[in-house]
Order: sequence, then C-alpha cells, then structure tokens
Amino acid sequence: MTRTTTSAGQAGEAGRAAESARAGESAQLVSTDPADGSVVATFSVDGPAEVADAVARAREAAAWWSGLDFAGRQRCLLRWAAHLTQHADELTELTRRENGKPLDDAYLELVLTLEHIRWAAKNARSVLRSRSVSPGPLMSNFAARVEQRPLGVVGVIGPWNYPLYTPNGSIAYSLAAGNTVVFKPSEHTPAVGRYFAEAFHKANPEAPQGVLATVQGAGETGAALCRSGVDKLAFTGSSPTGKKIMASCSETLTPVLVECGGKDALIVADDADVSAAAEAAAWGAVSNSGQTCVGVERIYVVRSLRERFVEALARELRDVRAGDSYGPMTVPSQVDIVREHIEDAWSHGAKAVVGGSDSVRAPFVDPVVLVDTDEDSAAVREETFGPTMTVRTVDSVDEAVELANATSYGLASTVFSRNRGMEIARRLRAGATSINSVLGFAGIAGLPFGGVGESGFGRIHGSEGLLAFSRPHSIARQRFAVPGMALMSFRRSAATMRIIKRVIAFRHGRAK
Ligand code: NAD
Repeated sequence: MTRTTTSAGQAGEAGRAAESARAGESAQLVSTDPADGSVVATFSVDGPAEVADAVARAREAAAWWSGLDFAGRQRCLLRWAAHLTQHADELTELTRRENGKPLDDAYLELVLTLEHIRWAAKNARSVLRSRSVSPGPLMSNFAARVEQRPLGVVGVIGPWNYPLYTPNGSIAYSLAAGNTVVFKPSEHTPAVGRYFAEAFHKANPEAPQGVLATVQGAGETGAALCRSGVDKLAFTGSSPTGKKIMASCSETLTPVLVECGGKDALIVADDADVSAAAEAAAWGAVSNSGQTCVGVERIYVVRSLRERFVEALARELRDVRAGDSYGPMTVPSQVDIVREHIEDAWSHGAKAVVGGSDSVRAPFVDPVVLVDTDEDSAAVREETFGPTMTVRTVDSVDEAVELANATSYGLASTVFSRNRGMEIARRLRAGATSINSVLGFAGIAGLPFGGVGESGFGRIHGSEGLLAFSRPHSIARQRFAVPGMALMSFRRSAATMRIIKRVIAFRHGRAK
C-alpha cells in the first residue's frame, strides 16, 4: 500500500506527489503494510529530471552490458538469482509487508521469478543467435543473415499484485537480450522493486551502476519514463493506464509492450473431473486475494454438472478465510470496487452460495461465489480483482465458449475436460489456456505470456519474450557479381530484363 507526503508531512493521494515536487517541495512516497498501515519504507519521488539521469546512466551502462557475450550475461543473471535465493527470507518478508500476501505465497512468487531469470539467461544465446536465410534464386549470389541486437535501454513499469514476477517478465528477458533497464515499481510496492534491482548489483559488484536501476513514484514518474527516450517501454498494469502509456510513448514513437488486465473464464465441460475443477476454481479465483491478472473471475459450467460443481466449490472454500488463507486487499480503493461488483450482481438477480454481505471487512475480503449472475452486470463484464467469482450454467460447451469469448479482454482461460481440452482451448480468444489445472502456463518459463484485446499486446517470457527485447538486423552480402545480371543498377540491360521476364513467367505464371 502507499501514501505520499510533502516535506511538511501531509498525507495525500499518490497523484499529488508530483505536484508537490513541482512546487519545489520534496515529495515523499511512503509504503505501508496493507494489514495494519505501519510504514515499510520511504522514498523521494523521482521527477522528470531524476528519470532522465537514470536513463542516461543506463545508457552508459548499456555499452558495458551489451559488450559482454551471452556467457558473461548469463553468469551475472545466475549470480543475481543465487543472491535472491540466499536472501529469500528477507525478500519474502518485505513482499509480505508491502503487498500483504502470506510468506509462502511470496516465496512461490520468488520461485517463479527465479525460474524465469534462469530460463532467460540459459536460452538467450540459442534464441537470439545469428541465423542465415535463403537468399532465393534471384539473389543466389548473396549471403543473407539476421542478427538480433539489443534495443538499448528498456523502461519497465510494474504493478503491485505480483511485484517481482510480473515486472521480471520484462526485466530478466531485457537483460538477457543485452539491454539495460530502468524500472519503475508500483507506488504500492516500491521497496520490493528497489530490493530486486539492488540485488542485481550486490551480486555483480563489477557491473557499472545503471544496468538495472529503479525510479520511484506514481503515474507522473511513469509518464516521465515513457517520455524519457528509452528504446522500449514495457508496461504491466490496468487497461486504462495501458492506453495512457501508449499515448505518452507515441510522442517519441517509443515502442511499447502492454500487459493489462483480464476477466478470465473457466469452463467445466460435461466430461470434467468435477472435484479437480472446483479445487482449481477456488484457488484460481481467491488466492492472492483474487488480485491476479490471470485469476479466475467467471465460471461456465454445463447444466449436467452444475449442482455437483457448486457444492464442491462451496466445500473447497468452507474454511478459506482472508487474513488466514490469504492476505488483505493490497490497495484500499480495490475493496470498494469488489463491494460494488458484489452489490451490482445481487441487484441483477445473482445469489451468493459462498459469502454474503459480511464478506467485505476491509482491508480483508472473504471468498464470495455468485451464481446466476446477469452477463451484463459489472461482476461479469469488468475486472473485479478480488476473491470473488461468478458461476453461470450453460446448456453446452459451445455456449460456454461463446460466453467466455464475449469480453473485451483476452488474457488467459482454463478448461476442465477429460477428452476435449485441446479442442475447447483452441476456440478461446485468449493469450493462454490451462487445461485440467489452473494457471499451468504461468509456471512454464518457455511459454510466452500476454493477451489480446483490452488485455494488451506483445509477449513476455519464453523465446518470444527474448525477441520482444531485441531488434532484428538484416544483412545481405553480395558474394560475387553475376555478369550481365545487375538488376539494381543503371547498367541493367534489355537482355537482362528479357531473361528475368522468362524466369518470372516460369516461376510464378503457371499456377492453375
Ligand atoms: P495501474 O494501471 O494502476 O498501475 C500500473 C503501473 O502504472 C504503476 O506502476 C503506476 O504507477 C503506473 N502508472 C499509472 N499511471 C501512469 C501513467 N499515466 N503513465 C505511466 N505510468 C503510470 O495497475 P495496478 O493497479 O498497479 O495493477 C493492477 C492491474 O494490473 C490489473 O488490471 C491487473 O490485471 C494488471 N496486471 C496485468 C498483468 C499481465 O501480465 N497482463 C500482470 C499483473 C497485473
């Protein structure tokens, strides 16, 4: 959680921090424990000048970092992972305090983060290797190659719900591809972000400052990073902010990668293992207080399994409580959104089979399962980002697929079916699908991650994640000249053109 203060110590909204800085006061970002409001850390808010300095240092460091070979960068990244592993207790405790999630969940987030650092480090050479391309018959006197080059400095703007795992999908892959990074963590988890970046330099004292640096602040600091001249901006956060990021980056034609929210569906088909589906739905919707971009928000269950599924889901959640099984809501304003969605669902005829009006006891929210929610209600249409889920009965898998796809988002999805999982998955308009498990794709480092529609575009993780932070450089080298066949020259003759026309007629003119 966060609040901002001016030098006079007044608490204020995050957006006021930069205003204070403009007025010449030193704006402070104070991060707090969402469970009890105690102060975790205080940072000075970075304005455009500080952001520009950080980017300039990163640009200097880029000469050193991109000058290392893949093996050199791999060594540094694996040392970083080792340092994070050796200091796991300290880092997970800091994550628990700033974000509110239980220690084991914080540890699991670190585990996934380490796996991605390792994957990026170990695979960068093979994914980004220089490769030759066939020059084709007309250019057969040429050798053609594609070489992947680093972009330079990548700006990364992250959210608070997984303060390590989500931004790391851009950070580790950018570094492995030879870029340096300026990272603006969420204003709600600035200390976790700072710890993560400093760990890289503690593990690699020979690296010049600026290989991985942080800047601190809320939206205005993020906007300054968008306008700072970085070579790419990788954003993870909400869809409305994603649109603002694109607008700011358009001023300098800075390319963007945008990972936004979702309204993910889980489909329970006729041949599903009901108890496995209920277990997955419960955890997928409620863990991390439901503050998971790829969390389960909507469930479509076929009529024949509805009663058994709803009963099994209620059983799964019987002893699950906020403050015990999972933490508080990280950001106070999120509690209001969750409450509004529940009330809107009720006013549209939904029934709660788990939870009720006493489920919201800020900063905690207990699980809420809403059945027969109107498809037009906010609880079905908008991202709730809380430990709630809607369950709707459908007559067929076809109807489930149609409703699952009837959203402006398209991040991820889940399918429970013993025999038709792949077939159903292929029909879903989403960046990822987990079959007979929940969030399976998020644990496999080689799988690209990202969405369609309002969920954003571009991919982190896997080979696509490395390619996203590099640029192809195409090189065509003439090995020898073919006498009389100079096509791109004023010396081209009529005889050359006659030969070319015959070749082209033979090559392209015969398809029936
Ligand atoms: P948010 O959009 O409020 O903020 C995200 C980041 O953007 C923060 O660092 C914030 O300071 C910064 N920011 C805000 N306004 C800005 C501006 N005008 N210019 C530049 N930067 C600006 O999102 P949040 O509340 O931190 O995170 C929750 C959202 O993130 C949810 O919608 C969730 O689904 C999404 N999310 C998506 C993924 C994914 O991989 N697709 C992962 C995690 C979270």
